[in-house]
Amino acid sequence: MVKEKKFAKCKVVIDRELGIKNGDQNFFSFFGENVIYSLARSIHPEDMHRLEEAMNSEEGVDVITLRMVRYDGQYRWMLVSILRGEGDLLELQLQDIAEYQNALEDLKGNNDRYTEYFSLMESLMMSYDIDTDRLKIFMLGGHQQMNFYSGTLADWKSYKLESGAVDSKCISEFNKLCEDFQLGTMTFEHELNISLMHDGDRRQWCVIKGKTLSGMQQRSQVIATVSIISPISRGERSVSFLPDELDSGTNLLNKRAITNYAQRLIASKPNNTVTIAIIDIDDFKSVNDGFGHMFGDEVITKVANLIREAVDGKGISGRIGGDEMFIVLEGYSTVDSVRTVLRSIRSNVEWLYANDDSKPDITCSIGSATYPRDASDYKSLFEIADKMLYLAKEKGRNRYIIYQNDLHSNYINGKGDAKESDIFSYKYRKSSVVNEIVNQYCIRKDSTAEAVAEKIALTFGIDSIYLYEMNGANYHRYTLYGDDRTSACDGVYLYEDNYMTEFREDNTMVINNINSFERKTPTLFHAFTEMNINQAIQIDVKKDIRMHSIVSFNRTLRKRQWEDNEILYLSILGNILGMRFEH
Ligand code: GH3
Ligand code: MG
Repeated sequence: MVKEKKFAKCKVVIDRELGIKNGDQNFFSFFGENVIYSLARSIHPEDMHRLEEAMNSEEGVDVITLRMVRYDGQYRWMLVSILRGEGDLLELQLQDIAEYQNALEDLKGNNDRYTEYFSLMESLMMSYDIDTDRLKIFMLGGHQQMNFYSGTLADWKSYKLESGAVDSKCISEFNKLCEDFQLGTMTFEHELNISLMHDGDRRQWCVIKGKTLSGMQQRSQVIATVSIISPISRGERSVSFLPDELDSGTNLLNKRAITNYAQRLIASKPNNTVTIAIIDIDDFKSVNDGFGHMFGDEVITKVANLIREAVDGKGISGRIGGDEMFIVLEGYSTVDSVRTVLRSIRSNVEWLYANDDSKPDITCSIGSATYPRDASDYKSLFEIADKMLYLAKEKGRNRYIIYQNDLHSNYINGKGDAKESDIFSYKYRKSSVVNEIVNQYCIRKDSTAEAVAEKIALTFGIDSIYLYEMNGANYHRYTLYGDDRTSACDGVYLYEDNYMTEFREDNTMVINNINSFERKTPTLFHAFTEMNINQAIQIDVKKDIRMHSIVSFNRTLRKRQWEDNEILYLSILGNILGMRFEH
């Protein structure tokens, strides 16, 4: 039969040095004459360690995948089962995966072979050998098998029932599943709420699809794949994702896939509640700078795992940027229910390295919004969540903000009119503001210094902006934004204590904490204390040899240190303000 010829399965017995003791006819016809003495020459060098690990492993790993050279010199991916034989001998059963795929395709008829093939390789799998009554539950990950159960069907059944792993409402479905395994039903499908992998795991809704492959080596094998379905798509079967939809660093969905998913969800069920949240790691650049990119990657993976765990069974998670993740939840109609999920993400991330002094503290900020309550389409929903993320960052990071109309609508709609150009992504907001100001203030000249200053203040979380202009022998102060009630605003401190010599070479002064100026420049310290300023960036703008002004961006509350990009942007903006300002 053509089918059997295509389905190349063969056996070989080897010793620990990979010397070949004997092989069946299929083995030699598949691999050709060059494998007569040793199997080593047929295995891809990069895969050799996998075979060695599997051979030496005490338990667990007994199915691996290897690239092996076929008789015609082509590398083929082989599924290799390792059975321990007498003494030091090992029996390997080998199957060409591509052929396996063809065989499945034949069995399956016209079904989409790609999905089937990958679902078979990626998800939790079950196999049951009717003759030997051996049930296995396993997963193929990283080309090796992880076993979750191996034993008799009856033992598994009674254990699952006794330990409460099966939802009481699903017991009859569970019994039918066991019966289908036992009888070797041709094809079957069951939907169950069950904890399948580890003892004590939370139950999850799973679809278990199986079929019986008969006739191979006179045995009947029942194979099944398990897909975990979230409550979202229960009954809809749409939550099977292809490998090209996954982000390789984190195994979360990639940006395109999670965006499509969220859009589809809204479009297909316009009356359902869909909550999204954008999660961004705080100060991740400094993690990379201080601990290296490799460590940075580790942090991203760990945070992604925490997020996956937190939404597991409740929704879907993805990665939409370097340190930005995204989650989609359905049916969370109250702010409180969303809060439970976001709180667990926020606090688990904070605890990631909390007990390890050699590692940095990692925190994240989260912005969230819910359809249809907060927005009527996906794009506006995303923009609201993004603005909430921005607000969470501005408020000092390590927090989540769930959009609430009564609290945040002012913020969303802007203090003035909300134009399309006001809707930035959090990441690009600061640089867009700089561009916009250059355009309005320097090129089109249709904006005032005060309007520009307000925009800067809102974008960079600044409480007041002063411009001190050297006027003959005195500084004259102009308040471009914020409070100026005290006389200390007059700029006398600029003359004292050699303050101006403290400026950096690029004519910038960065004050992260005013307390550190108490001894060095006490006049400044007292003036700032009186003005209630704790942090500032000042730019010395030289108009010509004699004329200069100082632009001072001030913060009342001490936040984090000024970031490099803030210093850079504010020094550009300070120069623009200082150069163009006319009273
Ligand atoms: P913020 O609190 O405002 O989010 O500050 P941040 O430093 O985290 O700033 P931002 O989110 O804008 O920067 C993310 C940085 O993450 C920029 C980039 O250097 C780094 N990054 C992006 N992708 C990766 C990655 O895959 N691995 C590592 N190690 N770093 C990445
Ligand atoms: Mg970040």
